[in-house]
Amino acid sequence: MAIETDGSSGRRRRPGGLTPGQARRESAKARRQRTEEILARLRREYPKAHTALDHRNAFQLLVATILSAQCTDKRVNEVTPALFRRFPTPRELAAANLTELEELVRTTGFFRNKARALLGLGQALMAEHGGKVPADMEQLRRLPGVGRKTANVVLGSAFGQNVGVVVDTHVQRLARRLGLTTETDPEKIERDLMALVPQPDWTVWSHLLIAHGRQVCQARRPLCASCVVADLCPSAES
Ligand code: SF4
Repeated sequence: MAIETDGSSGRRRRPGGLTPGQARRESAKARRQRTEEILARLRREYPKAHTALDHRNAFQLLVATILSAQCTDKRVNEVTPALFRRFPTPRELAAANLTELEELVRTTGFFRNKARALLGLGQALMAEHGGKVPADMEQLRRLPGVGRKTANVVLGSAFGQNVGVVVDTHVQRLARRLGLTTETDPEKIERDLMALVPQPDWTVWSHLLIAHGRQVCQARRPLCASCVVADLCPSAES
């Protein structure tokens, strides 16, 4: 079999699997079946996949997810124990001193914006939601610092609701490499994935892609030779 090359990088494609041309031409039904097979294999590979952000409730997960923008989960997990000790509920957060809050979240980057968002979040939760995190996409999105991705994280991992698919940098990269989308905009990628992945699996799907992206399908050097879905991936390299 002729070995195709990736036009942009010149890397050698792994022979025997799905070619980019086949992936482009596959029917919606075939792509859904391929997606379900990818899901099944990744489930076996990462049976404990879950959010890497330490939290005990929806409020803590919401705060940690806001802090995780442009920051590693590891760094966020270093910061949140002291933050949650000092501000255990929206009530304490709503009354926070902004300078103290900035100091506590400084190492997560963009700390002034994040501290302001957290203060606003505490105040909005107290003023509009009785100090509780709403389990509703539209209400979540109206909170300071909360976009669709953050709302999806909280709805999926704190409330067990599959309202959307979390599209972070790993999910974006893997969805494109796996030929499940050609989009670059996260909301369009999410729409493509929602059409392919069964709804009950939307939350776990993101956890699995993130785990695979961290351990195998890394940004700079995907470890295709060790990948359990290589034969289903049009980007597999030899
Ligand atoms: S590691 Fe390689 S084969 Fe596996 S999903 Fe990533 S690009 Fe595809």
